[in-house]
Amino acid sequence: MKNIIIIGAGPAGMTAAIYAADSGLNVRLIEKGMYGGQMTTTARIENYPGFPEIAGWELSQRMFDCVTKSGVTLTTDEVISISRSDSLFKVICRINTYEADAVIIANGVKRRKLDVPGEKEFAGRGVSYCAVCDGNFFKEKDVAVVGGGNSALEDAAYLCGVCKRVYLIHRRDEFRADEKYVRALDSFDNLERVTSHVPVRITGEDVLSGIEVKSTKTGEAHTIPVSGVFVATGLISDNDAYSEFVELSDDGYIESGEDCLTSTPGIFAAGDTRNKKLRQIVTACADGASAAKKALEYLNGVG
Ligand SMILES: Cc1cc2nc3c(=O)[nH]c(=O)nc-3n(C[C@H](O)[C@H](O)[C@H](O)COP(=O)(O)OP(=O)(O)OC[C@H]3O[C@@H](n4cnc5c(N)ncnc54)[C@H](O)[C@@H]3O)c2cc1C
Repeated sequence: MKNIIIIGAGPAGMTAAIYAADSGLNVRLIEKGMYGGQMTTTARIENYPGFPEIAGWELSQRMFDCVTKSGVTLTTDEVISISRSDSLFKVICRINTYEADAVIIANGVKRRKLDVPGEKEFAGRGVSYCAVCDGNFFKEKDVAVVGGGNSALEDAAYLCGVCKRVYLIHRRDEFRADEKYVRALDSFDNLERVTSHVPVRITGEDVLSGIEVKSTKTGEAHTIPVSGVFVATGLISDNDAYSEFVELSDDGYIESGEDCLTSTPGIFAAGDTRNKKLRQIVTACADGASAAKKALEYLNGVG
């Protein structure tokens, strides 16, 4: 039986695993974090067909249940790189190395960092990149959210229901989120908009105690006392580990069309990691199915 490795268990990777296993392939799905990927970081999903409204964790769990029923081998590890000898790929991870006849890269995207002093020092100790995952640690406390897009405003709205006061810090005058997210903020009286300000540093001795911000208009700085800082400044590609094998776009996404083929036969790309227009759950799932089908054709010598 041919072996296939799928990197990442978001909706793209999980769908690819289900389709590949159903095609009779020996499937190993490698995930470094939570099964579900970005879905686990959102409270509510309202545009996945079949579910008028579903929590991110629940859709993740439902997809994961389908994966476990398919007889896929689940591996918790972080992929560091890929190498190749003849037609066999070696997927090198932090703990082990695994071999496969084909590889589907479905590693999604990573969060953009603030790159200010204090961020690294307080990461996981007050600085968070996931409001839904960590919001409860800040019950009845004051927190800041940095960002102005849909994710930032969704995070701010979620945290308003959990925390005492939420400062929403954004570098522009106006948020770039969709109107419905902007309007939703009006219903919270514990939200304070801090527009036209950028974060300068995250402050604190042993514990995080504030975020220093600077006005983009006057250059004046002040510190907002908070116990937590939620970073929601966008998502970026994470494909350096694969650049030897796959062609990347200028902004680091894997060059691949809807057929999920890459510049190396035997390596496929699915979901948010590839250069595409619409990064959503439904398009990630579609990619997962296409990538598995193309991988099967490749392994059968017809692709
Ligand atoms: C806050 C938020 C709200 C959203 N809301 C919606 C919505 O309402 N509707 C919608 O359709 N879409 C929504 N999206 C977008 C949607 O979640 C993504 O488009 C989708 O999850 C992409 O799926 P993916 O499988 O390509 O990648 P991801 O979901 O990013 O999954 C990739 C997986 O790969 C793993 N991984 C990465 N690198 C490695 C490695 N080196 N080794 C092992 N594993 C690795 C990651 O841990 C992750 O689990 C939202 C996204 C966010 C952040």
